[in-house]
This record gives sequence, C-alpha cells and structure tokens, in this order.
Amino acid sequence: MCRHAAWLGAPRALTALIQEPPNGLLTQSYRPRRQRHGTVNADGFGMGWYAAARAEPVRYRRSIPIWADANLPALAEIARSACLLAAVRCATTGMPVEESATAPFTEGPWLLSHNGRVARDAVRDLADGAESACDSAWLAAAAFQRLRAGLALGDALSEVVVKAAAKDPSARLNLLACDGAALAATVWGDTLFHRLSEDGVLVASEPLDDLPGWQAVPERSLLLATTSDGVRVQPL
Ligand code: GLN
Repeated sequence: MCRHAAWLGAPRALTALIQEPPNGLLTQSYRPRRQRHGTVNADGFGMGWYAAARAEPVRYRRSIPIWADANLPALAEIARSACLLAAVRCATTGMPVEESATAPFTEGPWLLSHNGRVARDAVRDLADGAESACDSAWLAAAAFQRLRAGLALGDALSEVVVKAAAKDPSARLNLLACDGAALAATVWGDTLFHRLSEDGVLVASEPLDDLPGWQAVPERSLLLATTSDGVRVQPL
C-alpha cells in the first residue's frame, strides 16, 4: 500500500507534504505508522503541482526511493501552489517497478494517485489502455477517460471504484485526485485522514504530524474538497 497526500488552500511548497512534517511522505517512505499492507515505500515517488506558466500541472516522478533523489529537496522547496499532490510507492507483488507505474498519473488538468491493489482483469474493461501494466495506471486511465467525457472529479472516482470493486470484491481502492481547484479522494480498503486549517485542507493516507485536528475518513466514502465549499464526506 503506498502512501499519498494532497493540499488545497493558500499556496504552499511541496515540502509541506514531503520533508517538513515529522511524518511527511519522506518519513512515511521508510517508517509509515498506519500502513496495513507492505512495510516500506521505496519503489518510487512522485509529486505534482500547478504553475501559472502552464495550463497543465507539472509532474515529477521517479522509480527510485524518495530518499535517494538528491535533487528533490530543493525542487520540492520551490514547487509551490494552491493545490499539491504527492505519493510514495510500495509496488504490489507482480507489478512493474518503472516510472510509468508511479503516481501521480496525469492527463489534462488532473493528477491522480492510488493506494491499494486490484486484479488487472477487473480494470481492463474500464479503460481503452494505460501507460503501464500496473493496476494503478489502469485505474488512472479509467478515471481520466470519464473526466474527459465530462464527469465531475468525485463522480469519476466513484464510478471507477464501484465498477472495479464489483469485479474484484477484494480490491483496495483508495484514490486521490485533483484538478487545481478541487480534491477528491475515495476510502475503500485503506486509511485516509484529513485536517482542516485556517488556510486550507490536508488529505493524507496517514497523519503527517501529531497536531490535533486529524480526522479519519470512514471506510467506503468519498471526500470532496473545494476552495469555495470546504470539505464534504459522503458514502460511496
Ligand atoms: N498496486 C499499486 C502499485 O503496485 C499501488 C500499490 C500500493 O498502494 N502499495 O503500485
């Protein structure tokens, strides 16, 4: 089970998800505290953010452990935006360890990450193709296909999760996606938390620190966050 995290609110640097908090994704890559499947997240990492000079998000991902990228700390310090998403990966047995299998996946304005596993047969019918044979890449392709067709962020994730789970009842399908102005996340088989602050909301597989205010999002639900409407959680 990988670990992912996102921020929506006043502009922050990616260090706010990765190096700054005591249990940020850097620490979670070798010492996660609530991980139910897998022990370390050393099979790659990625991050995405939005920059004024570009319509689409900027995505940086690699298939090496996050602690092994000496260029990352400075990059994460200057990569700032109102909407951020990052992930560290623990590849599921049998899945390729390669850059194209590493979250965040991106298309158009969207970034997407997956914690979990699903039988590939269960997702092959949901998308026309994917950039990697990895289950997460297929889930991302399935969501992007629906987003391209006009579905709202939360509806696209819900549809993919419900359809994949119908075909593979043992699937774990925690998805996290954003479009620069909104975040959506599903809880289906693994942990998810959120923490509201004065200037925005953090969403993460597990708390990034021990500050008060982290709330567990219930199993089988969808979290939606926008800058205008705040955070909503609804059953899936
Ligand atoms: N199944 C996905 C992969 O192999 C996600 C793994 C995870 O959540 N650990 O990358």
